Amino acid sequence: EKEAETYEFTSDVGRVMDLIINSLYSDKDIFLRELVSNAADACDKKRFLSITDEADVETPEIKIRANMEDNTLTIEDSGVGMTKDELKNNLGKIAQSGTRAFVDALGDGNADVNLIGQFGVGFYSAYLVADKVTVITKSMQDASKAYRWESEADSSYTISEASADDIEGTSGTKLILHLKDDAPAYLEATKIEELLQRYSEFIEFPISVWKENTEYKQVPDEEANKDLEEGEEPKMKTVPETTEGYEAVNNQKPIWLRSPKEVTEEEYQDFYKSAFRNTYDIPMKHTHFVLEGQVMCKSILYIPGTLPFDLSRDMFDENARNIRLYVKRVFINDKFEDLLPRWLKFVKGVVDSDDLPLNVSREILQKSKVLSIINKRLVRKSLDMIRDIAESEDGSYASFWNNFGKYLKVGIIEDDRNRDEIASYLRFFSNNSDEEYTSFDEYIEKMPEGQKAVYYVTGEGKEKAKMSPVIEKLKSRGYDVLFATEPLDEIMFESLRSYKDVDIKDAGKDTSFDDDEDSKKKKEELNREFVDVINYLETTLTGVEKVSVSDLLTDSPAALVQGAYGMSPSMQRYMKAQAV
Ligand code: ADP
Ligand code: MG
Repeated sequence: EKEAETYEFTSDVGRVMDLIINSLYSDKDIFLRELVSNAADACDKKRFLSITDEADVETPEIKIRANMEDNTLTIEDSGVGMTKDELKNNLGKIAQSGTRAFVDALGDGNADVNLIGQFGVGFYSAYLVADKVTVITKSMQDASKAYRWESEADSSYTISEASADDIEGTSGTKLILHLKDDAPAYLEATKIEELLQRYSEFIEFPISVWKENTEYKQVPDEEANKDLEEGEEPKMKTVPETTEGYEAVNNQKPIWLRSPKEVTEEEYQDFYKSAFRNTYDIPMKHTHFVLEGQVMCKSILYIPGTLPFDLSRDMFDENARNIRLYVKRVFINDKFEDLLPRWLKFVKGVVDSDDLPLNVSREILQKSKVLSIINKRLVRKSLDMIRDIAESEDGSYASFWNNFGKYLKVGIIEDDRNRDEIASYLRFFSNNSDEEYTSFDEYIEKMPEGQKAVYYVTGEGKEKAKMSPVIEKLKSRGYDVLFATEPLDEIMFESLRSYKDVDIKDAGKDTSFDDDEDSKKKKEELNREFVDVINYLETTLTGVEKVSVSDLLTDSPAALVQGAYGMSPSMQRYMKAQAV
């Protein structure tokens, strides 16, 4: 066997290694995700290259085994493997320009190593738990040669020839982590399984973990049965029987890769509960679809059955993770907020795309055309779900509205493209219907002859809105008035001035709905006639800007209204609460 050759890491690798080794506060667990995702990548490449191959190649797989005596953890895949040149290029230098960004991100010492995969340097996370890493690999390109790469995270690594038999099958890679003294937990199969459940549950290739199982069996007790009499029952004893071997941990094909026809309602519910944190509810609606064309992506979206707890405290809680992004079945993260607009923050789901790089970062994502295409489609599918609930006859829309109505109002404010459609899903209590919700469509359908606009009245709760003097005249004409009783309503109506060509007006502001010349003149006369009363009121009521005689009222003697550009009381409350 030839001598091992020594190579220097490029300086950027050195910097990354330094940071990894010295980052005390990092979440070491993530090394497994990174290494398993590399293994899965290698399997993916092999599968891809084998498509054109004549030979019928077995499905590549990933195996993980701890060795207590050597204090090592081995992650083995039957993927593409690496040639000697590839070893040097992939594990000796950094291909992408990610280092700079990574070093910057980690620079101040308290950054999140969790991000490592996003910078294309995931391999080095092995050094979070190992002080020495050995890589034995055999490339698909030459099954007669295998190589051993080794480094103790100093400035250099070695490469030597290995035996082709070290790697079973035609190609693959074995990563042997010589664990640090403070990392014995990773020798436990249960710990490894737990991490795989967390990060790699939906990897498409079989992953198995080496396990020792002890079972207790009943066997005849030879010793005690020596002087067994005729017809006597043989005595038994309990002995431990240890079996060991690889056990599959992720048999399940990801549910979103299956055909919707094959997935049962129960499976959708189970997946919902297992995939998202803190979900104990039964989702109201789900949609499972494949995007084809410019962008390939598979997705399942859910509308929860209740308002998630974190969102009940803060409607845009940034820790409320709603969309889980996968790239080629590898879980990337659930923190990319740009996959859905924030008015759809309550929608949960998985998105798995083959058109994003595995090392996708928020920056890459934001610039990517793929994102805006996916975003648009997810919004479309979410709106379809909302429409389906709204159209269903089972009355579930009221509960949807109670849970998520305020998000739709934000949608009106923030989503120009879909404003009109979202408006059709808005619901209100109104003067004529204060127990059951009314939509704009229903309101408009019931408008009496001559009514030209939709009217709403603001107020703190429907009782107060109902008693508002400003709606007296509308009522007397048989006009219904929508109740805008929530802080968001007013801002929303600022954005939504009309619905299907019918104007929407604030009853407290817009009182000039049928001012003809005669009534105008009459009002001016009255105002002149009562100028003393007006002056008296204006000087006495210090908070009031202007007093005038009006034909707005039928029963009440006086009403407080706002100027056309004034801030209403509920608006003031809203600004104070700063809900948005
Ligand atoms: P990234 O996965 O983002 O490319 P990594 O630092 O995780 O960055 O890995 C660097 C490169 O090393 C990979 O792109 C791949 O070419 C190679 N590599 C790592 N692990 C394996 C493996 N198990 N089999 C084959 N190649 C691998
Ligand atoms: Mg990687």
